[in-house]
Amino acid sequence: MATIKERDRQVIWHPYTPMKIWPEAIAITRGEGAYLFDEDGKRYIDAISSWWTNLHGHAHPHIAQKVSEQLAVLEHCIFAGFTHEPAVQLAERLLEILPGEMSKIFYSDNGSTAVEVALKMALQYWKNKGVKKTRIVALENAYHGDTFGAMSVSGRSVFTEAFKDLLFDVTFIPFPTKDKVAESIGALKDALQKGDAAALIVEPLIQGSAGMCMYSAEVLDQYFRVAKKHNTLIIADEVMTGFGRTGPLFACDQITTAPDIVCLSKGLTGGSMPLGITATTQDIFDAFYNDDRLTTLYHGHSFTGNPAICAAALASLDLSLAELCTEQRKHIAERHTRFAATLAGHPLLADVRQTGTIIAFELKTDAPSYNSNIRDMLYRFFLERGIIMRPLGHIIYILPPYCISDADLDHVYASIEELLVQMTEQA
Ligand SMILES: *Cc1c(COP(=O)(O)O)cnc(C)c1O
Repeated sequence: MATIKERDRQVIWHPYTPMKIWPEAIAITRGEGAYLFDEDGKRYIDAISSWWTNLHGHAHPHIAQKVSEQLAVLEHCIFAGFTHEPAVQLAERLLEILPGEMSKIFYSDNGSTAVEVALKMALQYWKNKGVKKTRIVALENAYHGDTFGAMSVSGRSVFTEAFKDLLFDVTFIPFPTKDKVAESIGALKDALQKGDAAALIVEPLIQGSAGMCMYSAEVLDQYFRVAKKHNTLIIADEVMTGFGRTGPLFACDQITTAPDIVCLSKGLTGGSMPLGITATTQDIFDAFYNDDRLTTLYHGHSFTGNPAICAAALASLDLSLAELCTEQRKHIAERHTRFAATLAGHPLLADVRQTGTIIAFELKTDAPSYNSNIRDMLYRFFLERGIIMRPLGHIIYILPPYCISDADLDHVYASIEELLVQMTEQA
């Protein structure tokens, strides 16, 4: 009988996959905790939380139970003109913990749609107020998703190359590497002084897809202060950073200013089901709240607010807010810091950087690119050691589920050390 992997090759087109160059997909049959198991029974440590989504481990019994209970009661219903307990409860609970003064939750389906909704909210906010502000300001090399609006506010890259002539014009300010902080903030001021900026969108503290590029809370705070001073809305894309990745629950918890709009998705359901949230303030909501139907936010999806998915998010929130999870995150962050110290000044590493539970290792290379050969070599190196990593070009990172054991994290660290030894020998 054909394996799943073989059948896959006949019928599936995979995301972000040059199908001729990487024709093989590993067929996963089961997940448990930090592990995924393939159809041959081989076990993998999911060191990147399955694309940054998983928080509490795979097939978590609490999430599985709550979802299955909800499916048996109400699996889905239309969300315009109708509502239900899981959606209301999730909104109530999130509004209590979100950064800033969020007062309304808008549901959609994933991170890209959460960003699309945020952009539409910001642009239409000004339109509804009769103010001409139509420009979006973003950070160089940002990644906000793959739909057209989200692509437009993302850095131009191999991801957007085929569509570049169709993306709307955005002002990109330089990424605030340590020597470019003043330049970056200066560029933001210049962009906002023109008075046409509807919103600034950022990935707070870490640009994920760009290569786990990190910047300080002080810089983030300065961006937000400049935006507020120039009457520009602030969109915090916490799709990756949300739910504890950077230490506290949200990256914006580390600063004193607050965004006007927050986007959430990846960790929202603990990595179990797709859901996007765009949270916003009363002020923004009020700009859409009047008798003129033209001021309505005409956006929605068939599965908006799906009750079973909201139940998954509620179950994940139970786990995220438990003391155990806070301790696990702290423990992982401390272990990362200690491991990073052992690699300080390594001749093959251009940089080792960490924010909370995320640690990244930038290899020295002549050919840094998402599609580089070194990326494929690294990917295979870790797979052979039973570790799922997905290097961003020459940058390796660990972004683990919070339930990862010390032994498994040790194995990941040891494999990185082994890689460096092997590369030293080959150099
Ligand atoms: C992954 C990601 C997105 C897009 O989310 P999808 O669910 O993959 O559409 C948007 N913003 C950030 C910061 C992300 O990391």
